[in-house]
Amino acid sequence: SAAATPRRPSPAAAAGPSPRDTRWGDTSSYGAKKKNRVFCQLPNGDWALCTVITTSGDESVLKVPEGKVLRLKTESLQPANPEILDGVDDLMQLSYLSEPSVLYNLQYRYSQDMIYTKAGPVLVAVNPFKKVALYGNEYIKAYRNKTMDSPHVYAIADSALREMKSDEVNQSIIISGESGAGKTETAKIAMQYLASLGGGSGIEYEILQTNPILEAFGNAKTLRNDNSSRFGKLIEIHFSTTGRICGAMIQTFLLEKSRVVQCAVGERSYHIFYQLCAGAPTTLREKLNLKKVDEYKYLKQSCCYSIAGVDDAEMFRAVTEAMNIVHISKEDQDNVFAMVSAVLWLGDVSFTIIDNENHVEITVEEAAETVSRLLGCSIEDLNLVLSKRHMKVNNENIVQKLTLTQATDTRDALAKALYASLFEWLVEQINKSLSVGKRRTGRSISILDIYGFESFDKNSFEQFCINYANERLQQHFNRHLFKLEQEEYVEDGIDWAKVEFEDNQDCLNLFEKKPLGLLSLLDEESTFPNATDLTFANKLKQHLDTNSCFRGERGKAFTVRHYAGEVAYDTSGFLEKNRDLLHMDSIQFLAKCKLSIPQTFASKMLAQSDNLESIPYRPSVADSQKLSVAMKFKGQLFQLMQRLESTTPHFIRCIKPNNLQLPAIYGQELVLQQLKCCGVLEVVRISRSGYPTRMTHQKFARRVWFSSS
Ligand code: ADP
Ligand code: MG
Repeated sequence: SAAATPRRPSPAAAAGPSPRDTRWGDTSSYGAKKKNRVFCQLPNGDWALCTVITTSGDESVLKVPEGKVLRLKTESLQPANPEILDGVDDLMQLSYLSEPSVLYNLQYRYSQDMIYTKAGPVLVAVNPFKKVALYGNEYIKAYRNKTMDSPHVYAIADSALREMKSDEVNQSIIISGESGAGKTETAKIAMQYLASLGGGSGIEYEILQTNPILEAFGNAKTLRNDNSSRFGKLIEIHFSTTGRICGAMIQTFLLEKSRVVQCAVGERSYHIFYQLCAGAPTTLREKLNLKKVDEYKYLKQSCCYSIAGVDDAEMFRAVTEAMNIVHISKEDQDNVFAMVSAVLWLGDVSFTIIDNENHVEITVEEAAETVSRLLGCSIEDLNLVLSKRHMKVNNENIVQKLTLTQATDTRDALAKALYASLFEWLVEQINKSLSVGKRRTGRSISILDIYGFESFDKNSFEQFCINYANERLQQHFNRHLFKLEQEEYVEDGIDWAKVEFEDNQDCLNLFEKKPLGLLSLLDEESTFPNATDLTFANKLKQHLDTNSCFRGERGKAFTVRHYAGEVAYDTSGFLEKNRDLLHMDSIQFLAKCKLSIPQTFASKMLAQSDNLESIPYRPSVADSQKLSVAMKFKGQLFQLMQRLESTTPHFIRCIKPNNLQLPAIYGQELVLQQLKCCGVLEVVRISRSGYPTRMTHQKFARRVWFSSS
């Protein structure tokens, strides 16, 4: 197409501002005198570009867009950049770096489908919520051949590749942003660019096909995003010495298990449940005894079964095709779907009360029968695991009967464990298939797509972990873009006025300090059998109230001052979720199942558990569960940060311009809040006052040598 190699990325770019964009883009109505362009704040809080008609005393008369005239205090106005700077590629080029001018520049570009803008070294990507003509082979070629240089994910991936080769250093592309901002799509676009290099033997295609699988099992419709990733992901793509892809390795973080048994109204559970029910061919449907989605208890509770514009049946075929491509055998696929069906049916297993103490047995009917058939266990074993529990009291083994509530909780815990083990197994299979093996060279590009900062009306343990992770990532970002850079200037004896940035070390300390930090206190409290969420909250208040990043709230709540804003957490369920216990009975039950995936999972857990008595606070659980969820997560994060530290980072900040998932709506306040919370404005300020490029002598010499040879 003619649009293949323009200097500007979009054919629409030449057409000027879109008709919707009267407020910002249409400067033609201001006539010839554009010298006095200023920004003024409208009553609704938005900034508008306008022209000064007259100024008298401390007031100015302004012509605002749509022809209106306003009289405002002159001091409330902000200078605007000259028209020639409208829509610049890099925010660094702006003469005035005020909030309104940055917002205006991004909006100006956004209205012309130029969703990418540089902010110094950082790429800002504003989610278009529609197809934009910026991708595909022609564009990939144009960026490869450098006939196109406007900001793009492709350009980032390309420089990562080049730097990997020229500097012989591993690279990382770190993508962040709120839920729905476009992280996962951006990660896929970067992968697409790298995969286009080819690798031979179809490995690059295999790598791309991991996406539909992981999305089917790890993504769900939420109120914020129809395809929300409920896990974090790092994919490390390996390259051979000739610069071709030779393999990959995926690591996932903290899958949201609770969604399997419970999700909010208007949201869905994991896509695969709906895909399987809609798309399974007749034989499979009969074998798995599949019902319609609205007949399963686990899926029924949120009253949401479909996603606008998505054909679940079609997606099912895409997922099985992707599984074929990453070498998951037909037999294994059957096992996978048997597990998916078993989880659904498990939710329908009901209980009969057998005495006046509310003790129960499972009701033997279709649900229980189907679960036992799919998992390959007896009905008796299923009944036993769901209605009784082995305990050790005063060194004596006893069997406790479970009440209805306890039995239901045990059932749900089993469903969550089954699903989590399935997800883990899938990642393992994918990694086996993509494994580099002997072809390993050590050079890699990692792409990190991890949940962004979350602050809802109600924030629980999940948000607590996610926001903690974001503090760590933010520190990494700060270190690379503010600290190291400025330290280098000082070290080199450059006369340099220090740019202040929001250091989040205090908040990280609040989480990580031992023994009096949030994580340590949570773990300590999780070990006490009699502890409750309230005692935990009180403990926090008792020990942390002097910390400037912490504030105790009434009852079970507390507030943390995160770099991105204050978040109030409700400790309800914190201890339970942090312990995440699977009782020994359940593990032994799974180990006895004939279905191979849960069996392998349980056997692994049993093999790791030697001395059960060493965990006094957790009667009857395996040693492998000794680590709490928070501690495991912290360990994963440290490992991740270590890995990232050894790479050259490339940062992409995704911005969500509206909460409606709709195109062409640009909410200034929403955008500004995201720009602020990810430090984009400071980065521009530093980059503009700093030096555009810095290299070691060695690197410089190598560059010059290569480019002249
Ligand atoms: P996140 O991973 O940050 O939660 P996603 O990457 O899932 O967000 O993006 C949410 C939705 O936004 C996508 O399903 C898609 O509809 C839209 N989207 C994001 N990036 C793009 C893009 N570059 N082009 C078109 N649509 C996009
Ligand atoms: Mg995502």
